Amino acid sequence: MKWWRWPRWRNYTNTFFKNYKAFCIFIRVQFANTILPDFKHLFYPHICSGCGSDILADDNLLCAKCFVNLPFTFYAQYADNPIEKIFWGRIPIAAAHAEFYFAKESLIQQLIHQLKYKSNREIGMYLGEMLGRTLISSKRFNQIDGLIPLPLFPDKERKRGYNQAAIICNGMSDVMKVPVLNNVLVRQRFTETQTKKHRTERWENVEGSFAVKNEALVKGKHLLLVDDVITTGATLEASGHCLLKTEGIKLSIATLTAAVK
Ligand SMILES: [Zn+2]
Repeated sequence: MKWWRWPRWRNYTNTFFKNYKAFCIFIRVQFANTILPDFKHLFYPHICSGCGSDILADDNLLCAKCFVNLPFTFYAQYADNPIEKIFWGRIPIAAAHAEFYFAKESLIQQLIHQLKYKSNREIGMYLGEMLGRTLISSKRFNQIDGLIPLPLFPDKERKRGYNQAAIICNGMSDVMKVPVLNNVLVRQRFTETQTKKHRTERWENVEGSFAVKNEALVKGKHLLLVDDVITTGATLEASGHCLLKTEGIKLSIATLTAAVK
């Protein structure tokens, strides 16, 4: 039997080319799935914003360990929670929530610091999405028509380049499918120094620094006022008071953290 018979060779070459094609596909898939991401990771490592670990999903900013250690308040689902109590006898609100307890030297303080002073907007979006998801699942915030970020003084916003509350709102808006109303509540700085004033005069000054534009846009709507932190609630109260002057407005409040004693 002639071993070099042509038809057999043809079979071999056919098989080779078939496998060669498969081999190319295999290399291409391996390159896209493992080699390329490994190289990317080498030059642009995707690490946890809390502890620096690299064991985390691509679309996450915190590893599982840091996430479970976040100080969630779970206030959203409870009426008369401590955040709502802050506003009792001050302004009428439908519901209020703060996502995390604020503690000094904690991970959440570190994250808020990155958002406010290190231009890390990604963190703001990420935490905003988290807050938004909590509000959706609580069902007490599902009638919201618009998100209002607490405005900064214009010169401060110019210096920082953005308003951190607006970044949080953008994250919330992505998951809640509710629009962010950026140009409704505005803030102006007064020239006179506040420190010399009496306490009530000072409060009037804080209240007077807020103004509502485009009233027709928010008339009769349920608005959610958003900020990064709540302490005494004075600024939120003053701005809320200003918003409530518009006819038919229902107001709720949400912040990322609560630094309440
Ligand atoms: Zn971590």
